[in-house]
Amino acid sequence: MKPIHIIGGGLAGSEAAWQAAQAGVPVVLHEMRPVRGTDAHKTDGLAELVCSNSFRSDDAETNAVGVLHAEMRLAGSLIMSSGDANQVPAGGALAVDREGFSEAVTKALEAHPLITIAREEITGLPPEEWDEAIIATGPLTAPALAEAISAATGSESLAFFDAIAPIVHFDTINLDIAWFQSRYDKVGPGGTGKDYINCPMDKAQYEAFIQALLDGGKTEFKEWEGTPYFDGCLPIEVMAERGPETLRHGPMKPMGLTNAHKPDEKPYAVVQLRQDNALGTLYNMVGFQTKLKYGEQTHIFRMIPGLETAEFARLGGLHRNTYLNSPALLDGTLQLKTRTGLRFAGQITGCEGYVESAAMGLIAGRFAAAARLGRPLTPPPATTAFGALLNHITGGHILSEDEPGKRSFQPMNVNFGLFPPIEVPKPEGKRLRGKEKTLAKKRAMSARALADCKAWLEGAAAEIAAE
Ligand SMILES: Cc1cc2nc3c(=O)[nH]c(=O)nc-3n(C[C@H](O)[C@H](O)[C@H](O)COP(=O)(O)OP(=O)(O)OC[C@H]3O[C@@H](n4cnc5c(N)ncnc54)[C@H](O)[C@@H]3O)c2cc1C
Repeated sequence: MKPIHIIGGGLAGSEAAWQAAQAGVPVVLHEMRPVRGTDAHKTDGLAELVCSNSFRSDDAETNAVGVLHAEMRLAGSLIMSSGDANQVPAGGALAVDREGFSEAVTKALEAHPLITIAREEITGLPPEEWDEAIIATGPLTAPALAEAISAATGSESLAFFDAIAPIVHFDTINLDIAWFQSRYDKVGPGGTGKDYINCPMDKAQYEAFIQALLDGGKTEFKEWEGTPYFDGCLPIEVMAERGPETLRHGPMKPMGLTNAHKPDEKPYAVVQLRQDNALGTLYNMVGFQTKLKYGEQTHIFRMIPGLETAEFARLGGLHRNTYLNSPALLDGTLQLKTRTGLRFAGQITGCEGYVESAAMGLIAGRFAAAARLGRPLTPPPATTAFGALLNHITGGHILSEDEPGKRSFQPMNVNFGLFPPIEVPKPEGKRLRGKEKTLAKKRAMSARALADCKAWLEGAAAEIAAE
């Protein structure tokens, strides 16, 4: 049987190789280290953790990444079994001994009879004879390959820099203060004239907000992140430094908007939020990319009227990151729409985090193996953590058509905002409210995800057994 070629032996590539080989398909895993390094990796081990040693919460009842852990364990993940075997104490989180973890992954892959590891840099797209291939080269993809991907997908389609605006859970926005309206009630493509949520500010609120941006602690760029800002993507605090009126003439301009709650009061400035996923559960703060420290962001953004109790699905950030405009480029099996048999996996697809990258490696590995074996494979249901993340990357995200030239797809960690909503049954005689209701929803979503994931995996196994 011809092998699957996997480029990149990080979190995603290692998991993809394991899944494909466990399905009985030979794999060649191409990893450039130690022949060529990256600015963040320090060893030549596979699945090296470049920064923290945490896989985050291991709570599979009320935490989305905990649910993802549980699904990966059900699917026989090498990253999870190696993590579990090298756990160090970290409260409710799964943290690992980074060396022991990477060594366990490397040894398991080296020992697998169907896996060959080639220590070499791949400098262009996989040749045509690699008819099943997965690119899993991560946020620090080596330049020659990145250029080849960019040339094949279009220069707008591969980002080298991640300018992330914060994303808010819709149900935590106060619509007694904020209101739905598009600027000048414009009905764009697929729009209704009421596509944005608007948060109004008076002069005093605006001035206090600008001062908070100027005073707020900022994160410093690491040396390897020395990429310059590009136009249209300046952090809000940098805009505030350029003058107190800059933001009011930029992303916070109040023109063309009338406060539905107080039509006679002209807002001095307006923060706009745009729907971020097809489910309508997440909204991003338009033009609000920032380098403010996480703690500062929560506190400063809750100064915005309507966002006083906002919960953030992700906070803003700016760092180097190579990632595809996946919703436009990839199909539901992580395959490039323009080239059958070429898949992407890991952070380069627009997920974020060790566990999410490994999970998308797991899915890509299974799809590639199924294709090689000529077996159909149904994608994981959208109600699972696998499916929710896959949908964010390939389908559920709304592409921005009203701001040509700007990319709206942002890499994201798994979170409950990516899951389809669920109705929580009311306990007898009791109405759930606030935190209690949120917790009940999380529990219900987690239980649904794990049940659906089990059924999905059992369905796939039954199909193989029936052959
Ligand atoms: C500096 C930094 C810190 C981060 N910190 C965290 C954190 O603390 N927690 C967290 O959850 N996430 C973190 N992330 C985000 C992300 O989870 C990790 O980058 C994760 O390792 C991504 O997994 P991956 O498999 O997609 O890429 P990687 O794990 O980076 O694997 C990609 C592999 O491809 C190889 N490669 C690249 N180009 C080529 C080529 N042309 N030919 C052959 N091989 C190639 C690389 O050497 C590497 O081994 C961080 C990212 C960065 C850049």
